[in-house]
Amino acid sequence: MPRIEILTIGDELIEGRLVDTNAFELSAKLADLGFCVAEHRSVGDDMDGMIEALRTAAGRADAVLVSGGLGPTSDDLTAAAAAAAFGLGIERSSEALEHTRRFFTERGREMPPTNEKQADLPTGCTILPNPEGTAVGFRLDVGRCRLYFMPGVPREIRRMADDSALPDLACRLTAAPQTVATLKLFGKGESEVAQLLDGIELGLPEGIRLVVQYRATFPEIHLRLVVQGGDLSAAGAVLEQVVGDARQRLGRHVFAVGGPRLDIDFPTFAATCLNQGGGTLAAAEIASFGAVARLLGASEDGRRCLRGSLVAADLEVLKDQLELAGESAEEAAEAVRRRFGASIGIATIGSAQEGSGTRPGALTVAASGPDGVVTRELHFPIDPDRFQQLAAYAALRLAVRMVDAGA
Ligand code: ATP
Ligand code: MG
Repeated sequence: MPRIEILTIGDELIEGRLVDTNAFELSAKLADLGFCVAEHRSVGDDMDGMIEALRTAAGRADAVLVSGGLGPTSDDLTAAAAAAAFGLGIERSSEALEHTRRFFTERGREMPPTNEKQADLPTGCTILPNPEGTAVGFRLDVGRCRLYFMPGVPREIRRMADDSALPDLACRLTAAPQTVATLKLFGKGESEVAQLLDGIELGLPEGIRLVVQYRATFPEIHLRLVVQGGDLSAAGAVLEQVVGDARQRLGRHVFAVGGPRLDIDFPTFAATCLNQGGGTLAAAEIASFGAVARLLGASEDGRRCLRGSLVAADLEVLKDQLELAGESAEEAAEAVRRRFGASIGIATIGSAQEGSGTRPGALTVAASGPDGVVTRELHFPIDPDRFQQLAAYAALRLAVRMVDAGA
């Protein structure tokens, strides 16, 4: 497998003033092409640091994608650092100069003399066009490594990577596509999930390896099952088998299974289930404090199924608003369902904080539909933000179960 590294340059990156979205985007694009990135590294606008980083990367990688420092200002040192790192001279490139000059004249401006510096490139490099900005990029071969130098401005590097650097890289190097599935679940902790999956990688065919990657995006857990080795069809068969095994082990906690980029979250999944059956939803929210509406409001499916949500500060307010006789979550769910004319009503009652007669983190959720009512008593002693989120998830899950049961 070829070794690819990404080197991003800029003081603002290492001083915490800028998030390195260039490295992130380049890695994602490479992954789409079937390449793995071995390392991301950032260095400041410092000559010695850049020289060391460039030499280290060129000494061990097959390709290095470099971002930043091609501009006209005094802190833009990348071309000079590349020349110094690999014992090359610097020459003014007439092609690059022409590009920069044209960039200005096409916009009805004269090129400032400071921009001439952007045409000073290491000898023997090949220019990468920049249709979006003044500085051209360039590529350089050092031993078996090819380095691609691109601007830091996200719009410019995006275009240059798509149009020139990545197509060139993909021609030179052989991708080793991974066979990947994503499983999303909710309702179990990360360590519980790990326990349930214990030993899943055992007994696979010779030469094939399974890597399980965990990512917790509260309150969901996203698993990536990565099969490495074997040819594509053998890896595909193994993947199918381990996905089946994982689903069986994790049971109904799994709500979505798909390929490497599976971008559905649980609230959207819940809304999709409701919409499929022509169902609509209404919520009475004390514990979730509007989180049901907020989560569903984030997707088109969610907005379609939610007829309304009533946020109440406490039970007294809710009783008053829904004209409830008692204090149960079941009664609130049924009342809000009727109030909004929805097919399913859900209610979340409880608080992360100590309430009158309730312990902190006590939660009752209920769902009410045409065929009856279900309720759950839960306990989540966590901070208010996450408590609200969990309350919404727990209530939505009851609604989903109600739709599933009716199907
Ligand atoms: P310029 O011609 O604008 O000077 P440049 O190639 O010299 O371009 P930099 O000076 O390193 O690039 O960065 C220009 C701007 O691009 C930065 O101010 C920053 O906003 C953005 N930028 C640089 N590097 C990154 C990165 N790794 N991720 C996201 N944005 C970045
Ligand atoms: Mg700059």
